[in-house]
Amino acid sequence: MARVVVVGGGNAGLCAALSARAEGAEVLLLDRGPADGSGSDSYFTGGLFRVAYDGLDQLEAIVGPLGMDPSTGIDAFAKYSEADFLEDWGRVTGYRCDAELAETVVGTSYDAITWLSGHKVPFLSGLVVDSAGRVRHTRPGWHGGFVEVSGAGPGLMAALLKAADNAGIRREHGVGVRSIERSAEGFRLVSRYAHGETVFHDADAVILASGGFQADPEWRTRALGPGWDLARVRASRYNTGRGIRIAQDLGAALYGNWSGCHAVAWSVGSRDAGDPKANHIFERESYPFGITVNVHGERFIDEASDFGAYTYARYGREVLRQDEQRAWQLFDAQCEEQLMDEYRTKNPEAARTRADTLEELAAKLAARGVDRDHLLRTVAEYNAAVDESVDFNPYVKDGRGTKGLRFDKSNWSRKLERGPFEAYEVTCGITFTFGGVRIGTDASVLDEDGRPIPGLFACGEMVGGLYYFNYASGTGLTSGAVLGRLAGRRAAEVVAHA
Ligand SMILES: Cc1cc2nc3c(=O)[nH]c(=O)nc-3n(C[C@H](O)[C@H](O)[C@H](O)COP(=O)(O)OP(=O)(O)OC[C@H]3O[C@@H](n4cnc5c(N)ncnc54)[C@H](O)[C@@H]3O)c2cc1C
Repeated sequence: MARVVVVGGGNAGLCAALSARAEGAEVLLLDRGPADGSGSDSYFTGGLFRVAYDGLDQLEAIVGPLGMDPSTGIDAFAKYSEADFLEDWGRVTGYRCDAELAETVVGTSYDAITWLSGHKVPFLSGLVVDSAGRVRHTRPGWHGGFVEVSGAGPGLMAALLKAADNAGIRREHGVGVRSIERSAEGFRLVSRYAHGETVFHDADAVILASGGFQADPEWRTRALGPGWDLARVRASRYNTGRGIRIAQDLGAALYGNWSGCHAVAWSVGSRDAGDPKANHIFERESYPFGITVNVHGERFIDEASDFGAYTYARYGREVLRQDEQRAWQLFDAQCEEQLMDEYRTKNPEAARTRADTLEELAAKLAARGVDRDHLLRTVAEYNAAVDESVDFNPYVKDGRGTKGLRFDKSNWSRKLERGPFEAYEVTCGITFTFGGVRIGTDASVLDEDGRPIPGLFACGEMVGGLYYFNYASGTGLTSGAVLGRLAGRRAAEVVAHA
């Protein structure tokens, strides 16, 4: 009998398993996906962990010497305090997030990163010096305190799986947990292998870490609304919300923003559910530096209301609302320096249209169904509205906006006037859902009266109450690590007293 069973082997589940094991528990990890972790959302991540730190020395303690002199503007990255992190989290969620959970995650974010580093997760600073000699995040226009895993999501998963194996954690892959019953000794898990055979496991404590329900189109549509059945799933095909249902059957309270999710502008050339080989090329997060239009050739958002790190997770919803769920991000040659690497892929699935003149670009987009005349009018109106009295500065919110448009752009506005011009066709890609189970600050699953359900814990995407409306980039992995660690520790305590 494995005393602690962890359901789901992404970042949160593996952190929980490592933590329970470190406290001396026997641990079995069950996951629906393949043994290399590529069935998890964590595998598809950019490997960015948002973290609070008080000085560059703290950052260097994790990532090694930065070797950047003051002329690069490194001072701007010298600190990302817990108060900064909490404020960014609160602001983007309309101050609706569960304050106690957010404080728990933020307050132990640095400790969790240090712990992961101790498990040989290879962290980098995620800071680079650009061609202007200025330091910036690897993702131009990103904001906040981060560390980044070398090798991104696959690098993270490889390190965590290796650490799990070294720690003596048993893992079984290709096995989906279907239900969990209370038994005299604790819990009995009923699971099914991909080939159909049913298998039973007993446990004193169970940690659920099996993700949100974003890969279930029917549930998605019921919770998020019409049209969400057609959103592309960016990553795991296995996160169909089974763990949330199981928890509910065991008496868990549901919690959080059930009509909300993290969804981005995502290349229309993408496939549904993540492709481990090609996924990264579908990201389209440089839109704050250009403009975005719909099939009618109209703008429909302020592309630069904030740093991309605070808008990208809500703009997928805006694209989904447009006719045909399609939109085009337009850039001119001046935007080149700010385009993230994935825009530069030569893959035809990039869904890129290129032309030397705007008229030619509009004609080419007309073949994709875009209203050519309206598009040209939109660009002309936008160009005329750009406030050129303010200097363009991609390192800060420069306030270089437009005036008098239906959707004014708040920052980084430059006339689209220098060829070649590019358009990237996007649709909505869903990342994960916000509604989930209610947990306490020790990751215990709570019942409807707010009481912990003995022996049952949850962490990661399937936790409700963390995010409302929107999300600050890099928070998912950090919250998974913090709450996973807590869940593991507490589950081991349960086992010790069983
Ligand atoms: C393209 C992309 C990029 C991202 N980049 C970042 C980033 O850089 N930084 C960041 O913080 N966040 C990022 N995110 C969000 C991040 O992926 C999640 O917040 C985080 O990975 C969730 O971890 P998790 O362990 O809860 O879920 P997962 O990593 O999805 O793990 C859940 C696991 O549960 C398994 N499972 C599901 N159902 C069952 C079942 N019934 N039985 C057994 N196993 C089951 C699945 O197979 C899966 O392996 C990104 C997401 C995507 C899609």
